[in-house]
Amino acid sequence: MFTCRNQSCDAQWELSDVVIKNEGQGLLFRCPMCGARNYVERFDGEDGSVLYEQIEGRPDAGPMAD
Ligand SMILES: [Zn+2]
Repeated sequence: MFTCRNQSCDAQWELSDVVIKNEGQGLLFRCPMCGARNYVERFDGEDGSVLYEQIEGRPDAGPMAD
């Protein structure tokens, strides 16, 4: 379960509700309600499944970050 980090939105989403993609600053999904970027981290499960965990703020994108 993810919670939109836009506090005025605060919508909750299942993984199946969102599209996770990399826009160049790390994996994220756009809140289907308000469009806010919500960053996630990917984990590989022991059974080969892919898991995502929401992270605070945005990841360190390195020296190319604007
Ligand atoms: Zn939202």
